[in-house]
Amino acid sequence: MAKTVWEKMDAKGMKKLMAFNEEYKQFLDASKTERTFTKNAVAFAEQNGFKELSKFKKLKTGDKVYSTNHGKNFLAFVIGRKPIKEGMNLLGAHIDSPRMDLKQHPLYEQDGLVLLDTHYYGGIKKYQWVAHPMALVGVVVKKDGTVVDISIGDSENDPVVGVSDLLVHLAGEQMKKPGSTVVEGEKLNLLAGSIPAAKEDKDPVKKNLLKILKDAYGIEEEDFVSAEIEAVPAGRARDYGLDRSMILGYGHDDKVCAYTSLRAITDMKDVPERTSCCILVDKEEIGSIGNTGMQSDYFSHVCAKMLSLQGDSSLVDLNDLMENSRMLSSDVSVAYDPNYPEVNEMKNTAFFGHGICFNKYTGSHGKYSSNDANAEYIAKIRRVMDDNACMFQTCELGAVDVGGGGTIAYIMANKNMDVIDAGIAVQNMHAPYEVVSKADVYEAYRAYLAFLKDMD
Ligand code: MN
Ligand code: MN
Repeated sequence: MAKTVWEKMDAKGMKKLMAFNEEYKQFLDASKTERTFTKNAVAFAEQNGFKELSKFKKLKTGDKVYSTNHGKNFLAFVIGRKPIKEGMNLLGAHIDSPRMDLKQHPLYEQDGLVLLDTHYYGGIKKYQWVAHPMALVGVVVKKDGTVVDISIGDSENDPVVGVSDLLVHLAGEQMKKPGSTVVEGEKLNLLAGSIPAAKEDKDPVKKNLLKILKDAYGIEEEDFVSAEIEAVPAGRARDYGLDRSMILGYGHDDKVCAYTSLRAITDMKDVPERTSCCILVDKEEIGSIGNTGMQSDYFSHVCAKMLSLQGDSSLVDLNDLMENSRMLSSDVSVAYDPNYPEVNEMKNTAFFGHGICFNKYTGSHGKYSSNDANAEYIAKIRRVMDDNACMFQTCELGAVDVGGGGTIAYIMANKNMDVIDAGIAVQNMHAPYEVVSKADVYEAYRAYLAFLKDMD
């Protein structure tokens, strides 16, 4: 039996695997924020015959439906042969990634330079985010409601911004600090300009920059108060490794699971028995809170609306739907790294090229805050994977007591749904550039297709 996905693939399979990853890289490059991911997911779903929920008067077998929430959540459904209240097969992933957000009053001039003050988002090693080319992506919403899209730094001729780092020649004191404070949060300021406006005494460089923004986008300084602008690594995802077996890119966590889930639901060939669903949510990296996080009532509300379009509108119907549903809560897992083998326990570790990972539990220490998937459910998953010749591995997020992490799994499990953590292994998680194996990206996509089709 093949030990890795690579060895399993024949020439035809290998061609498909590589082509799929080219499509992933393109989508990732255009979808660095939750807003741009949602926008591109909508366009992609529409190309594949999905229609917005409000367009349906009733729901019948084979209908393809999508819904969005505040431009930051995306849901897609393919209505199955059985009524929705008998349960759905769900693929869930998150589309927010660690980054630096501009503060509400970001712009200031200091000693002839203009900077943009940021507040980091999610768990980052701050020292990794300096001396990198950064793009600014987001929206400015003016008082009259006009939304101005901002995207600077990802086109070939765009300028970029960045956070400076101290030259090593003068970093003697800095280098004695522990890693957590070697670059402090308040030092994450992006250098944005240095030309002074003519005949201005106070803040001439800032005035010049504000004029540039006004001319290009029609925005004033006060408009930053109602803006969401994210500083994300500029540039494109690249083939990684001399054999091109991996992808280096920003935001694989968790857009690699989001993209493969989206592709699975849009690529399904036959109408499924059970309704298929793909849930892409925001705010996982900061605790899944807020009206666009998994804890929001949005998903339940959409389900209630869909039930009512099949004539089932009681609270019991909604609870039945949740209890009868099964979910792969997909988020990236840790890939074995020969530079740091000590953080893993080798029997329960994910390796590049071995397919989708299933984590029975995540959490930390004594499995705290973890969804611990039921053995009966895992047995069903094993059957579906084996029936469809999908390679999978089981793993933990690190050795016992080394660390840990959380996902959206427990939130859906709270609705009494069967949920397991699944996903793709990455190196460099939460660094500006993360790494995945192309074999795992493709094999996860195949596993999602199998799950949507065959989980009962
Ligand atoms: Mn994640
Ligand atoms: Mn994460």
